[in-house]
Amino acid sequence: MLYALGRHLGRIASGELDERTLYAQSRHHRVPRPRRVAPGVLVCPICGLSARRFLRFGLAGRRNAVCPGCGSVERHRLLWLYLTRSTDLMRRRYRILHTAAEPALQERLKPRHGRRYVTLDRDDPDADIRADLTRLPFPDGHFDVILSSHVLEHVRDDQLAMAELARVLRPGGWAVLMVPFDPTSDTREDRTLDTPAARLAAYGHPFHYRIYGRDLPDRLALAGLAARILAADRLLTPHLKRRHRVNANFLLLCRKAGQ
Ligand SMILES: [Zn+2]
Repeated sequence: MLYALGRHLGRIASGELDERTLYAQSRHHRVPRPRRVAPGVLVCPICGLSARRFLRFGLAGRRNAVCPGCGSVERHRLLWLYLTRSTDLMRRRYRILHTAAEPALQERLKPRHGRRYVTLDRDDPDADIRADLTRLPFPDGHFDVILSSHVLEHVRDDQLAMAELARVLRPGGWAVLMVPFDPTSDTREDRTLDTPAARLAAYGHPFHYRIYGRDLPDRLALAGLAARILAADRLLTPHLKRRHRVNANFLLLCRKAGQ
């Protein structure tokens, strides 16, 4: 995840800076560190930091978004709360594929699962494996679990990427996916929009190809994954959402049929 996309928007829109160059530079993935953090009512469930305020994030400068301790944003904290409260991921050892791994989650998953835990990214030089989601270098059924947050919207041929994710998941395995998601509409996608500037105007991000909607489970079913939409509002109480700074967000819990 890039922490300072806004700073580069001018050069991105003009075509001077492309997506792959930007994501290939480690410094853009580095967690911002504030000089001093005043303790307060906000608590990060990932790193445990207590703070009066979190840092701003995103093109709109969303307040109280980034944890000053581990760099997590709202969706990372929701994913972590789900994984630790509702799955046995931190009690059992699994073969895990984690795409575009969030540093805060990676730091905690790697020690638990060791070499069975593999991070993959198309451009990030720090990933274990550099590969494209539409051509995964793993045999069929290799992984028990896949974690993929905010990656599919960056892939032009997302149906192929979903099929690849399903292929490398073992029968009976599960995946948690997160994407920009609007449950009130169908997926919004215009394949004629081919410049970062046009995509920024349409989707709010220069490198996104779509905003997913309520038909996403149908797309995943075509790939062989049975998906259930889980809303943050149903997973967490209002108190927990406030305390951990989790916003209205959605997870897709996917299962591949079989044993
Ligand atoms: Zn944190």
